[in-house]
Amino acid sequence: MDTDVLIVGAGPTGLMLANQLARRGMRAMIIDRHSHPARETRALGVQARTLEIYQKLGIVDRALELGKVGDGANLWANGEQKGHVPFGNAGRHVTPYPFILVLGQDDNERIMGEKLGTFDLPVQWNTELVALEQKPDLVEATLRQADGSTRTITAAWVAGCDGARSAVRELNKIEFPGAPYEHVFYVADVEMTGTMVPDEVNIYLWKSGFHLFFPMRGKDHWRIVGILPKPLRGRDDVAFDDVVPSIRDEAGSALSFGSCSWFSTYRIHHRAAARFRDRRCFVLGDAAHIHSPVGAQGMNTGLQDAYNLGWKLALVVQGKADAPLLDSYEAERIPVARRLLETTDRAFRIVVSDSAIAGLLRTQVLARIAAFAMRRESIQRYAFGVVSQTGIQYRESPLSEATDRLPEAAPHAGDRFPWLKLKLRADGPVEDLFQSLDDTHFHLLAFGQAAPAGTMAGLGDLLQVHAVPADSGNDAELQRARIPQPSFYLLRPDGYIGLCGTAIEAAAVSRYITERLRIR
Ligand SMILES: Cc1cc2nc3c(=O)[nH]c(=O)nc-3n(C[C@H](O)[C@H](O)[C@H](O)COP(=O)(O)OP(=O)(O)OC[C@H]3O[C@@H](n4cnc5c(N)ncnc54)[C@H](O)[C@@H]3O)c2cc1C
Repeated sequence: MDTDVLIVGAGPTGLMLANQLARRGMRAMIIDRHSHPARETRALGVQARTLEIYQKLGIVDRALELGKVGDGANLWANGEQKGHVPFGNAGRHVTPYPFILVLGQDDNERIMGEKLGTFDLPVQWNTELVALEQKPDLVEATLRQADGSTRTITAAWVAGCDGARSAVRELNKIEFPGAPYEHVFYVADVEMTGTMVPDEVNIYLWKSGFHLFFPMRGKDHWRIVGILPKPLRGRDDVAFDDVVPSIRDEAGSALSFGSCSWFSTYRIHHRAAARFRDRRCFVLGDAAHIHSPVGAQGMNTGLQDAYNLGWKLALVVQGKADAPLLDSYEAERIPVARRLLETTDRAFRIVVSDSAIAGLLRTQVLARIAAFAMRRESIQRYAFGVVSQTGIQYRESPLSEATDRLPEAAPHAGDRFPWLKLKLRADGPVEDLFQSLDDTHFHLLAFGQAAPAGTMAGLGDLLQVHAVPADSGNDAELQRARIPQPSFYLLRPDGYIGLCGTAIEAAAVSRYITERLRIR
């Protein structure tokens, strides 16, 4: 076998998967048909859940150093500020990163590429997947190289991180149902001044559409995302100067523009792959789902796909788990993609509709409802959970199980385990669990009860057991997170709750490990 895992595509999704496999000691190979990394910014909103993963990977400080923190979001309609959500308030107990980080896709790729270099796993550029054949025990992949010659290699598994026109998806005849939107998006990086709240995301609803302004590094530097005005839609030579009059029509003198360093238009489709796996091949990222960029979710969703598959694939390749564990990738990530498509679709239809009624709906009704909602803390928290992706849960997953009923408000199997600061030893310091619990192990947390003696049957040295001591600070923190005592939580390497319940029963844990996780 030439490689355990062939990763096709070195965009953000492929680079994340390669990092996750490399740090677990896998023999992976990552190829890309281009001759070098992308130089365009493209996606630029890095969500809190992605930053949590970056922290585990050891690249969050670099990302924070290069990016710009967006502290909140503002809604504007008819020239007036209608609403404001301070992300810090909504997310301060949820994540160490209660904001959106504005950092271009090119920088994200560079940081992940540099990290990959430390594992001695360079991207093989100028290498395109052109054919593949699935056999029972391996996949034969034909690669075209820069000089036009081809070579065939064998891989145990193939990960298609090869974007919207994925060869892995098409060669496996996986359908990609959906449709293009009639609208054409544009993005522009511009020097501008105006009513925008600095360092925050500003959403402007107009009679004829909308604009999103993301703060970028540098003085008065903004990324504008909008849709092309109708008269410009058929043209392929549109420049930023062509769209300025339509913004001025709506904004008057409230906004003024300087130089534009990047302008691009693109047509959007909304599609989700019918399956995320075909025997030994997977699709992830844009290869599996594409949708409107309105919520800055696309790149982040691909990164989460890779994080979800990475630990499972590593266990199977290492021979520590059986292949059915990999079925849970599709079971967990397809619903996320479908939900995302539905929500972005719904939001998108209202904000882009061309009709006069839609214009009124946008600037009057929608603006009022949104402004009302933005003032309510419970809605702010809910919205932060959705947009930051910290609220994604896999409660319906075959890997999620409860041994008995926990209170409704408690974290449940399939939830991302909350961000807590606890003493893990009676005489030790208060620790940030996101820092302390590494993501190459399973973790069993026992609250208000003793930890089981010795190693739990089944997981061996894959498991770390923590009996959280009785302590007034711990009690207060657990109460805040609605974690009852006694209770226990078995966390998967990606920080999601696999198994939970009140009293730990060794037999139930062992059964979960062999039957659900399929650990050998
Ligand atoms: C102009 C623009 C603006 C955008 N703005 C936003 C935004 O604001 N927010 C947001 O969230 N998303 C945005 N997106 C979408 C975002 O860029 C994608 O969601 C993200 O790039 C997906 O990453 P990926 O790694 O899955 O795929 P890609 O980035 O498409 O990477 C796929 C890689 O696979 C390689 N490849 C393809 N086929 C083969 C093959 N056969 N063999 C070898 N290699 C192959 C390609 O060369 C490429 O490098 C934008 C996209 C565009 C085009």
